[in-house]
Amino acid sequence: MSIPAGRHFLQIPGPSNVPDRVLRAMDMPTMDHRGPEFAQLTHEVIKGLKQVFKTSAEVVIYPASGTGAWESALVNTLSPGDRVLMFETGHFATLWQGIAKDLGLKVDFVPGDWRHGVDPGAVAEKLSADNKHEIRAVMVVHNETSTGVTSQISKIRKAIDSTGHPALFMVDTISSLASIDYRHDEWGVDVTVGGSQKGLMLPPGLSFNAISAKALEASKTAALPSSYWNWQPMIKANATGYFPYTPATNLLYALRESLRILLDEQGLDSVFARHQRHAEATRRAVRAWGLEILCLDPEEYSDSLTAILLPEGQDADRLRQVILERYNMSLGTGLGKVQGRVFRIGHLGDFNDLMLAGTLCGVEMGMIAAGVPFNRGGINVALDYLADNL
Ligand SMILES: *Cc1c(COP(=O)(O)O)cnc(C)c1O
Repeated sequence: MSIPAGRHFLQIPGPSNVPDRVLRAMDMPTMDHRGPEFAQLTHEVIKGLKQVFKTSAEVVIYPASGTGAWESALVNTLSPGDRVLMFETGHFATLWQGIAKDLGLKVDFVPGDWRHGVDPGAVAEKLSADNKHEIRAVMVVHNETSTGVTSQISKIRKAIDSTGHPALFMVDTISSLASIDYRHDEWGVDVTVGGSQKGLMLPPGLSFNAISAKALEASKTAALPSSYWNWQPMIKANATGYFPYTPATNLLYALRESLRILLDEQGLDSVFARHQRHAEATRRAVRAWGLEILCLDPEEYSDSLTAILLPEGQDADRLRQVILERYNMSLGTGLGKVQGRVFRIGHLGDFNDLMLAGTLCGVEMGMIAAGVPFNRGGINVALDYLADNL
């Protein structure tokens, strides 16, 4: 194997690129997590996270990947045999549903075509039909990372409200938080699940729950067993600046640095606008190539990644392999049902115009090298868009 020169392009939709500044912020001696300096770090990162989730409610931090925070949302609020309503938007919704089943919940999993988000009308219909209020929670993935489809959370909230149904509303924002506008309080979400390794520009290893007052109330009677994930000891310890067990101390330094970048220096609105612009440039390239965007509804296009369908008979994983070997760039694989048919371009996190240009060049040159039939020149269309829309 030859040793590649130059920088690797990590264009999978998470883990995303970690800014050098954030890497340097982690490069610190391990600190005493029960010492006096530590409390200040805890308070600062929790305050910043609340701004990112747009909430004044509780936010807890786990030393775990996103999957842990999925489980935590459920074990803190629900009881064995409870009914929950979920939608098959793609691979990640399917995985979260699997956890719910493993925990002994009864999942009403509404089938989907992996090309659309959650239909608010279907939410209203399901909840209206449940006149005994047996459904305890509606669980939705905000940005389905396997398909590049973003569900419209505020419309789903309105659909729930239109039925007067008391179900809890839980949303996975692992690949949207700090990339796509999200409002925990305003959209009446009860538990928001987040992770460190996508829009927050950190390595994997931290995950979050933002917890409404209604979810906290539900946690008092929830009968699913929980210990490591239990919110109560976490919230109690966090209030004093500490954790009930050893937190991922050096990742918290990284989190402090990324929050400073996102909140104090760039500002969330400009971060969202940047993601929108890069996503639009990418889609223009895809159309010019004569390829199909997996997401079918323009109102649901994802700003953090684009999933692209290859023509019938083409193997997307072979294309990804050619691009990795020739151009030293990693692209997202097709997950679950769309494996081999789809590849994904991540355009989230610490990313700029020239990184996008390099990414699209790598895709275009890779398709030539792999013999994929397409129209050349998508890059130029994307560059024109970037140049004309500053
Ligand atoms: C990445 C991702 C996850 C999985 O998180 P892990 O950190 O791998 O456990 C869950 N949901 C969505 C939407 C994701 O993008």
